[in-house]
Amino acid sequence: MELTLKAIEGSRQDLYIAGERVAPSSGRYLPSYDPTTAEPWYMAADGNAEDVDAAVQAAKKAFRDPAWRRITQTERGRMLRRLADLIAENADELAAIEMRDNGKLLKEMRAQMRAAPDTYLYFAGMADKLHGETIPVNKLDMLNFTLREPIGVIGMISPWNSPLMLLSGTLAPCLAIGNTIVAKPSEHTSASTLALAELIDRAGFPPGVFNVVTGGGATAGEALTLHPDVAKITFTGSTATGRRIAANAAGRLVSTQMELGGKSPHVVFGDVDLDRTVNGVVAGVFAAAGQTCIAGSRCFVEAAIYDEFLERLVERTSRIRIGNPAVEDTELGPLALEAQLAKVEQYVGYGVADGARLAIGGRRPQDEALAKGWYYEPTVLAEARNDMRFMRDEIFGPVVGVVPFRDEAELLALANDTNYGLAAGIWTRDIDRAMRFARNVDAGTVWINTYRSAAYMSPSGGFKESGYGKRGGFEVMREFSRLKNVVLDY
Ligand code: NAD
Repeated sequence: MELTLKAIEGSRQDLYIAGERVAPSSGRYLPSYDPTTAEPWYMAADGNAEDVDAAVQAAKKAFRDPAWRRITQTERGRMLRRLADLIAENADELAAIEMRDNGKLLKEMRAQMRAAPDTYLYFAGMADKLHGETIPVNKLDMLNFTLREPIGVIGMISPWNSPLMLLSGTLAPCLAIGNTIVAKPSEHTSASTLALAELIDRAGFPPGVFNVVTGGGATAGEALTLHPDVAKITFTGSTATGRRIAANAAGRLVSTQMELGGKSPHVVFGDVDLDRTVNGVVAGVFAAAGQTCIAGSRCFVEAAIYDEFLERLVERTSRIRIGNPAVEDTELGPLALEAQLAKVEQYVGYGVADGARLAIGGRRPQDEALAKGWYYEPTVLAEARNDMRFMRDEIFGPVVGVVPFRDEAELLALANDTNYGLAAGIWTRDIDRAMRFARNVDAGTVWINTYRSAAYMSPSGGFKESGYGKRGGFEVMREFSRLKNVVLDY
């Protein structure tokens, strides 16, 4: 891979259209910051509507081009396998690039990137398994069947928290199906998507099948959602942006797939192994400094063990090692953006003003070595209530509110009292109780005695304001293909 961390450092990164690196038509570039120092480390092209149009035209041309259309499904699978190998060879480099862009722990980004090839292999295996069916009709001399087809140009808009992992969840199936793509990564983390473009090229995908337009959401992103030749949009990001994108797409009557925010309930009953559960709750909310869509940020604890659980949660939280994400034993790195730090500070302030008790955290670390970066201590707010603002809105930071509950009925009402429905977790030894919760909670994914484990084999996606449409499993192959009915009279 030519686009290594070293090559990116201090560079200007152009767009990637039709297999070429292209300067943005505005001539402008946006700084990308290193969250550990708050210093820019490279500049990414500030793409606009003109650049988006060029990329969409390239993708449209590639979609119709026999060079892509006539490639058999088996061969598309083979290309995806080559891509998986290339990602595996470059996994640690891609991880280092992402860590520098979003401040997440190097060990976590490495784990993500080393696992990424599996997603491509999984969908490589599906490239030749997408098929229609023959449907009997009340006429003997008639053949009535369906065809599964690619949709066309797919616009993919992604966030900064796990850029390639989130992109891969829809990119791999879309390539397997035969769609072509214009990706718009977050303006805060463009580099790894550009590096991936180079690998896609090397894997043998024809020019124009995968294009990248970097730049702002209100400019490049908005233009992609409004472009008349984009056949479907997949979006991962905040609910507010998702609402706007869905409205733009609705104006053109094209469908969208939405992976949005969350405010997930994490439930603890009194019959559990407390040490294991506390570790699970801590990992569920403080991983990636709380910047995961599935963060279990509302923790409901059975009243009988509330005090003991809280004491242990605070004790475990006090031992979380905050520091540079590149250092092996660091457990919590900085927030990715300055605005994110400001938001966390603001929401912890709301929590305290609304009457929650700051049990631990609630400030930036007092360590001089971390003063320049966007660090914030993991924070537990006790005696929280669902009607407090910090418990209603997604914060996307290392903050958890802890609430006691008396019985299952009260718990369920509290857990479902949110506009979101992305994920939920429950810790109990009572399997009946766990299943009742799993059946009744409004969440796209439910974990029992674990949290955060996810697999590309499972159809995942939120309910309510956490989005719609699925990624993962065979479901995503249906999501990004279209079904045509053909009737033949003979
Ligand atoms: P964001 O909504 O600010 O931005 C996401 C992407 O949308 C970026 O590429 C941005 O440039 C683009 N964008 C912004 N405005 C746009 C517009 N008007 N038109 C088109 N594109 C636009 O989100 P973020 O801050 O980058 O990411 C954090 C959010 O993502 C959180 O809410 C988190 O929960 C969510 N998220 C969800 C999932 C999931 O799978 N459900 C996964 C990760 C993150």
